[in-house]
Amino acid sequence: MKKFIFITGGVLSSLGKGVASAGIGAILESMGYKITFLKLDPYLNIDPGTMNPYQHGEVYVTEDGAETDLDLGHYERFTNVILTKYNNATSGRLYFNILQKERRGAYLGATVQIIPHFTNEIKRAIERASKDAEITIVEIGGTVGDIESLPFLEAIRQMGLELGRENSIFIHLTYVPYIKVAGELKTKPSQHSVKELRAIGIQPDVLICRSEKPIPKPIKRKLALFTNVHEDSVLSAPDLETIYEIPLHLKKEKIDEVLAKHLNLDYKEPDLSKWKKIVNTLHSIEKSNKEVNIAIIGKYVELKDAYKSIDEALIHASIANKVKVNLHWIRSDDLTDENISEVFKNINGILVPGGFGERGVEGKIKAAQYARENNIPYFGICLGMQVAVIEFARNVAGLEGANSTEFDPQTPYPVIDLMPEQKEVEDKGGTMRLGAYKCTLKEGTKAYEIYGRKEIYERHRHRYEFNPQFRPLLEEKGLVVSGEYVAKKLPEIIEIPTHKWFIGCQFHPEFKSKPFSPHPLFESFVNASYLNKLDKLSIDT
Ligand code: GLN
Repeated sequence: MKKFIFITGGVLSSLGKGVASAGIGAILESMGYKITFLKLDPYLNIDPGTMNPYQHGEVYVTEDGAETDLDLGHYERFTNVILTKYNNATSGRLYFNILQKERRGAYLGATVQIIPHFTNEIKRAIERASKDAEITIVEIGGTVGDIESLPFLEAIRQMGLELGRENSIFIHLTYVPYIKVAGELKTKPSQHSVKELRAIGIQPDVLICRSEKPIPKPIKRKLALFTNVHEDSVLSAPDLETIYEIPLHLKKEKIDEVLAKHLNLDYKEPDLSKWKKIVNTLHSIEKSNKEVNIAIIGKYVELKDAYKSIDEALIHASIANKVKVNLHWIRSDDLTDENISEVFKNINGILVPGGFGERGVEGKIKAAQYARENNIPYFGICLGMQVAVIEFARNVAGLEGANSTEFDPQTPYPVIDLMPEQKEVEDKGGTMRLGAYKCTLKEGTKAYEIYGRKEIYERHRHRYEFNPQFRPLLEEKGLVVSGEYVAKKLPEIIEIPTHKWFIGCQFHPEFKSKPFSPHPLFESFVNASYLNKLDKLSIDT
């Protein structure tokens, strides 16, 4: 059995097409189907790896080291699938394949064209992604009407015809704005968007209507009439308190029945009890007064999508600890010696996430110092670990001017540096240390206690490393290397055992955290921050 679900977006972007796709995946998985996903992105970059978070949001890293769209993060968090580089393709990637083939002479004699060559390449990408799955959910990035996404729509139109009706289904996620002054939900933008889709030759089978409020029956009827979609297949998708409610909500709208009927699936009642449980926990946490204040010191704090997986991992840790996590996003540029104690006055835990480039780094170093000196739980991720090492070198080991060569190539103490193989790298795209590496934990350390095992695999995305030359000195001064990439003798986790909770990791644990299996480091960090708050309360009173 091979079935395909094609998901397009209408009216505007940022409606949550990615989480909706993930939610559909969760439902199908709970019905017992083997699913997978493919995100097709119409832009020309080969992958999002070279893009600024303002352009694109977070770059999500897969186990096999692909730098991908953040929607892949939703797919993995909502389901049990493990995605690879084949689960995300951009126009750039596909054109690149074609142009390489053209140079090799694969098309000798032919004019290479968008149709059929580019569209065939798209179809190949879809087939490849679907290799081991019964049902493949293909999400087309962008909005219907964009010039860039036209070849993708043409490719899925062709596939729909080739596969036949009961093997493919077109879902259009659209927007139904609520106009306050009129007190009305408006269907016109959706009508136009579907008209556009039909002009390309795609008649959607299902509409998922995003809106501020639930869509009542008469509006559904109107949408059905104007878009030629069956009324039962016009689904309401109002704003929800948490994205983890989406599978439950889609089930309430009977998407399982719509899909089963259209795709001629053996209907099995989805078991969403685990989703109910976490949503209930989230609601009760929201109401309880058990809360903790966590500061995130970053460069792109205005844009929440820039740290999507960290944000989610903290929600998972909040569920695990049954404590509400209040996030305080702090621009590292704004931290000064004068304001730091004021900024961190009510903060119970400090997290410094990954990052690139010099701007804001000194602020992050200050945050690490403040956390260390004031015994506040500190969690440094990737760059967050690197700044903790720099801070420790400068202020504990007395290496004045210690730095990463990324920020100061002339530093007298390059405690963070490029390893020889990285020094030879010329291309910026796809050449960092990427994907899962084995890390061996040292017995007796906090990291070992938290993970509860000796070997772990975590995902990386960085170019610089803790310079092993400085390891003996820093260890002598009290820094513990609790995780190591043994083959290369590279420190992967550092900690300060005399501190309440001070851990830095060179990898990105946030990519592997899920609502049903919170990442142990995040869980432990939130717990330590909460205990720190209780300590502080008992001292203050
Ligand atoms: N800029 C640092 C490096 O390249 C850290 C990267 C990160 O935090 N993801 O090593």
